[in-house]
Amino acid sequence: MPWRPAHPELPGWKHVYSGKVRDLYEPADGGDPDVVLVVASDRISAYDHVLATEIPDKGRVLTQLSLWWFEQLAGVPNHVLGSDAAAGVPEAVAGRAMICRRLEMYPIECIARGYLTGSGLLEYRASGTVCSLPLPEGLVDGSRLEPALFTPSAKAEVGEHDENISYDAVVMAVGDDAAAQLRSLTLDIYARAEGIARERGILLADTKVEVGLDPLTGLITLGDEVLTPDSSRFWDASLYSPGQAQPSFDKQFVRDWLTSDASGWDRSSAPPPLPDDVVERTRGRYVEAYERLTGRSFA
Ligand code: ATP
Ligand code: MG
Repeated sequence: MPWRPAHPELPGWKHVYSGKVRDLYEPADGGDPDVVLVVASDRISAYDHVLATEIPDKGRVLTQLSLWWFEQLAGVPNHVLGSDAAAGVPEAVAGRAMICRRLEMYPIECIARGYLTGSGLLEYRASGTVCSLPLPEGLVDGSRLEPALFTPSAKAEVGEHDENISYDAVVMAVGDDAAAQLRSLTLDIYARAEGIARERGILLADTKVEVGLDPLTGLITLGDEVLTPDSSRFWDASLYSPGQAQPSFDKQFVRDWLTSDASGWDRSSAPPPLPDDVVERTRGRYVEAYERLTGRSFA
């Protein structure tokens, strides 16, 4: 793992894994083995690299927004057990951590797309399909897809791109029953969240959920983060204009700067540190997404 957790030591917890953004801990000896502590760091990734520069408060935004969405999605089983000191969250990670049921995660990124862009658009331009589903001719960057599509991908190794796969490949990986449940859960979450975001002037272009089996309940359960700017494309409805790339509430400033001459990045080595104004504007985008969606101010 090329990155270290921001908090290698947390009282009562043992660090077990770090993804690009989140650090996972299990209870120290003698604790409940069915529980994990999920801590969102301020790390940011772009072009499959974790950058050297952090975005202050990003982890708190991701966790608070996920918690808000888990509440909106009442009826969908999720992994959250608690998120405050009373539940056992250590002071050092207050606001950015959740105590969760430990799930057996499926090796699938469950993606729903209501608009065509990103890797979906690339596949469509190459073959007229997305995840092997044929689409009508003449679609452009930002075209609406109705009904929304389930476009799964296989989780890639660290530093690799996730790969779009067909529904049949999901069936091969997890079986008929689980595949059907992953698809309907993903599309249901997309439909509900799309409606909630639309009321707030935001288009949910696509979203990725990570789902696992809860060994205690036997239920297919929503894990990780949900409907954040890291896992979803949010567009300002008032600026929506198909036929071009849409500005989105996420890492746009980071990507734009990295690919500009100013960064001097050659794309093969590690990306350079971000300038302060790119950090500040990116922080602002994450906070704005939180505030517009939840209607709360990010204190
Ligand atoms: P990315 O989200 O950028 O595609 P990633 O998922 O590897 O990459 P993180 O989100 O930083 O990066 O890592 C969180 C890890 O924790 C993921 O592997 C995720 O599947 C796992 N995880 C999340 N919730 C749970 C849970 N309740 N039980 C077990 N594992 C979980
Ligand atoms: Mg993740």
